Amino acid sequence: LSERLGGVFDRLTKQGALSEDDVKTALREVRVALLEADVSLPVARQFVKAVEKKATGAAVTKSVTPGQQVVKIVHDELIAVLSGEGEPGKLKIDNPPAPILMVGLQGGGKTTTTAKLAKRLKERDGKKVLMASLDVNRPAAMEQLAILGTQIGVDTLPIVKGEDPVAIAKRAKTQAGLGGYDVYLLDTAGRLSIDEELMRQVEAVRDVANPRETLLVVDGLTGQDAVHTAENFDTRVGITGVVLTRMDGDGRGGAALSMRAITGKPIKFVGLGEKMDALETFEPDRIAGRILGMGDIVALVEKAQQTLEAEQAERMMKRFQKGQFNMNDLKMQLDQMMKMGGMGAMMQMMPGMGKMAKQAEEAGMDDKVLRQQIALINSMTKVERANPQILQASRKKRIAAGAGMEVSDLNKLLKMQRQMSDMMKKMGKMGKGGMLKQAMR
Ligand code: GDP
Ligand code: MG
Repeated sequence: LSERLGGVFDRLTKQGALSEDDVKTALREVRVALLEADVSLPVARQFVKAVEKKATGAAVTKSVTPGQQVVKIVHDELIAVLSGEGEPGKLKIDNPPAPILMVGLQGGGKTTTTAKLAKRLKERDGKKVLMASLDVNRPAAMEQLAILGTQIGVDTLPIVKGEDPVAIAKRAKTQAGLGGYDVYLLDTAGRLSIDEELMRQVEAVRDVANPRETLLVVDGLTGQDAVHTAENFDTRVGITGVVLTRMDGDGRGGAALSMRAITGKPIKFVGLGEKMDALETFEPDRIAGRILGMGDIVALVEKAQQTLEAEQAERMMKRFQKGQFNMNDLKMQLDQMMKMGGMGAMMQMMPGMGKMAKQAEEAGMDDKVLRQQIALINSMTKVERANPQILQASRKKRIAAGAGMEVSDLNKLLKMQRQMSDMMKKMGKMGKGGMLKQAMR
């Protein structure tokens, strides 16, 4: 895919802002990439549409092509969609004993994941864990969990022949309470496909267990089917999260995106193999890179953006050394401050600005003031920004009105700009900008 996009990039060479055509051309390829990664068609369509809106008109970083810029925007949006609310890898297991219900189709990896999760809870979180197999359909399934339990050193509920899943769930609850367990995991039976009997059984277990978490374990390689399964289980049983297994395979992981887009449920973990420690916290950026298969491009754009910022800083420093500091410079500083978390943080990073920082504090400079100041500068013309000394009463009135503020506010801003300019001049004279150079670092 990267190759094919390379071709597209060659054709898109216009710099500046992304045009509608740039975006459309690049997104056609992105759509193909999503479908190849097994993202369902409606989800791919919807996703591309959302990105199109965001990307059109967006700035293109110098030294990357519009196509590359689009890919970066796509990547960021993918991460946004893949990240659910709540922390991945975290489960609600306070208030012991906390029941966790594991559901899914047969062969999806429920039993394996149950044991992996038990091991993780025991080792990482120091929890006392009990596992119970509710799979009465296949006698070997109960044995399977018991063997895994021995292997990882986690207790399993003793097997009683002839019990139904609801009775086992009740016994697990009692045992968890008596035994002082923090968490108990209920590994349910699956079917090869969704059927009414399976759903009824899982519902009945849910009703007696009242689980704190209901995790759907689903094979990440099954793509569309995985999404279908998730929808069904969520409607009937109500799931709180998803575990995607077999992500160690060569699938591209598109199911993750479809599942997030359609069910809205968080993906909590991914299974990366048959071994007991092959369970990891879901990481949206890793899956995003895998779905797009364009990690190199994303890194390139990020690097280009950093270079650009460095170049900007360098240019600014040269101007400062000459004692030039107009409203454009001030605006850049203010924007930067907003980005870096406000006035205080910024001032602390610039030695020699201690006095300014204090003044700012006294003047009650917070983010609101920063925004107002930026608004004032925005309402100046180009010429006024470059030469703030030309501002007379009538211009001041117009600018203040344009920003919805008073002339006195504008005067404060002008005073600040003059002070900064004076200071830059002084610093410029001192040691050929040595101090300023330091300050900019
Ligand atoms: P269940 O029917 O849902 O309980 O599925 P099992 O837990 O019995 O798993 C079925 C098969 O999938 C077993 O052979 C597991 O070892 C294998 N399996 C489970 N999770 C993973 C995984 O993340 N990666 C790989 N490669 N195999 C897995
Ligand atoms: Mg099983």
